[in-house]
Amino acid sequence: MIDNIKKILSDIPSHVQLVAVSKTRTVDEIMEVYKRGIMDFGENKVQELLLKETRLPKDIRWHLIGHLQTNKVKNIIPFITLIHSVDSFKLLKEIDYQAKKHGKVIDCLLQVYIAQEETKFGLDYTEVETLLKSEQYKQLRNIRITGLMGMATFTDNINQVRQEFHSLKTFFDLIKLNYFSETQSFSILSMGMSGDYKIAIDEGSNMVRIGTAIFGERIYTTK
Ligand SMILES: *Cc1c(COP(=O)(O)O)cnc(C)c1O
Repeated sequence: MIDNIKKILSDIPSHVQLVAVSKTRTVDEIMEVYKRGIMDFGENKVQELLLKETRLPKDIRWHLIGHLQTNKVKNIIPFITLIHSVDSFKLLKEIDYQAKKHGKVIDCLLQVYIAQEETKFGLDYTEVETLLKSEQYKQLRNIRITGLMGMATFTDNINQVRQEFHSLKTFFDLIKLNYFSETQSFSILSMGMSGDYKIAIDEGSNMVRIGTAIFGERIYTTK
């Protein structure tokens, strides 16, 4: 695991933020990575995140990277650093509502659908623009959209993956120019996982979400 971390840290340039994806990993495994100076961890299930958050150091920066149900938002607001997976206005509104109760502003990424797969959550390009143009969105004071997140198709076709990342980077630049030109805060492009992070960085990613390449293969246990 230590060698894996060294390799990844040497692969990614300093302007790229590493999020260690710790879903299915134990508290001990996470501690091992934390001790190497990694402070950002990503989880995809709220229940699992809550269990780990109470058991691990308070200076860990937790990222929610999986689909978030509106009824679970309130549980993560007290401590979450960044929500990567905002895929509807309804969810954004609930995050804003709960954040307001806590007197907080929560950083969010809009999850954009770029893969040619049926299963992935996310907004398409038109939906992102519709959201950002809406009066309802403009009224939200307790969320801050700091960028976009996307996942490429799970395929061996490197050209396809590259093209999907390239497309999202182009869209990111357009959105930044047209909707966030007066702020520096729209700056995060979260794309790239264990299998494709090098391509993602080539194509302009500045935040990668890496699990397997750090911790090894995931073993899912069914309960
Ligand atoms: C699991 C997961 C990752 C990490 O995947 P690896 O292939 O293990 O690096 C990244 N992003 C999301 C949204 C995930 O669910």
